[in-house]
Amino acid sequence: MIPFNKPYLHGRELVYIAEAVASGKISGDGIFSKRSHQYFENRYGIKKALLTTSCTDALEMAALLLNIEAGDEVILPSYTFVSTANAFVLRGARLLFADSCATDPNIDPEQIERLVTPRTKAIVVVHYAGVACDMDRILEIANRNGIAVIEDAAQAIDSFYKGRPLGAIGALGAFSFHETKNIISGEGGLLTVNEEQYLKRAEIIREKGTNRSAFFRGEVNKYGWVDIGSSFLPSEIVAAYLYAQLEQLDAIQARRLAIHERYTNNAKALAERGCFELPRIPSWATNNAHMFYIVCRSVDERTRLVQYLKERNIMSVFHYLSLHSSAFYADKHDGRALPNSDRYTECLLRLPLYYELSDQQVDRVSAGLEEFFGVRG
Ligand SMILES: *Cc1c(COP(=O)(O)O)cnc(C)c1O
Repeated sequence: MIPFNKPYLHGRELVYIAEAVASGKISGDGIFSKRSHQYFENRYGIKKALLTTSCTDALEMAALLLNIEAGDEVILPSYTFVSTANAFVLRGARLLFADSCATDPNIDPEQIERLVTPRTKAIVVVHYAGVACDMDRILEIANRNGIAVIEDAAQAIDSFYKGRPLGAIGALGAFSFHETKNIISGEGGLLTVNEEQYLKRAEIIREKGTNRSAFFRGEVNKYGWVDIGSSFLPSEIVAAYLYAQLEQLDAIQARRLAIHERYTNNAKALAERGCFELPRIPSWATNNAHMFYIVCRSVDERTRLVQYLKERNIMSVFHYLSLHSSAFYADKHDGRALPNSDRYTECLLRLPLYYELSDQQVDRVSAGLEEFFGVRG
């Protein structure tokens, strides 16, 4: 059986967890959290990196930091994970879903332009599959209208837009270390703060609305309740797992990229025959090999392909269901059709991609595609 995903364990994770336990401090912001923060700040030039218990939490922190409130509008893609939207709905925002591009699932800047109103408070972009959105165009729209840009960089670790690290471009960014991502800690996330104005408050919101972080740095002589907040920091056990993974980042990325390239080369002929589309990596973007997907010609063909691969013990999975037509939001959506988002909902299919996937296994998956389309294409 070739599963869709297999969480990677290098081995150092268990050593570091044992170290954290032996140190006598396993609550948050100990040595492994600090090392992880520094890793992101030094390697990617992020002003402030703060570990969170999930990307979902990092996005909720972003909504709190922007003071999103009832009546505010937030523009975001419909083709995304529910957390991208939920963080802002929790604050009472009205969501305006923008369609994806015709050529890839990322948000279409032309759609954003049309959705801006005087009430627009934030634009949330999602770098789908770790491939950068058209950030210059999006920042131009945002800056012209005085709107904050949040990057949902959940899938985008170690990926770049014109040389700039994703998650370091918008006012705030959110990463995920869920076991399905490139770098993992089981559950886990990171908020990146890229603007001075949010630095202090981000720490406070993350520490239950207290100035505890400043207290531990000796900046105040007692700490207390100064703002709203919640418990967003992970334990040192999680941070220890994460830091061991970060140390292996280059090796993990290199192997994932090799798998991605092998899939691409194997699938080229079928794509040229029009059996499906391959991912587009625009000239401004790098590929961090978070995901290998194909876009099928129809939902029926995708369903048959999933079944065909399953019979060969290969697990492939589709992805998001457009949020504008979700049970929760359909009656709140303004009714605009979002055909590109719908097409990815129906036709996008993800193939197995994980560190331990062997070249032979990649070839077996690719052979499955060839046989399927050879018979039916
Ligand atoms: C995985 C993912 C999330 C959620 O991450 P968690 O760490 O599980 O909260 C949010 N947005 C996108 C685009 C994701 O891929």
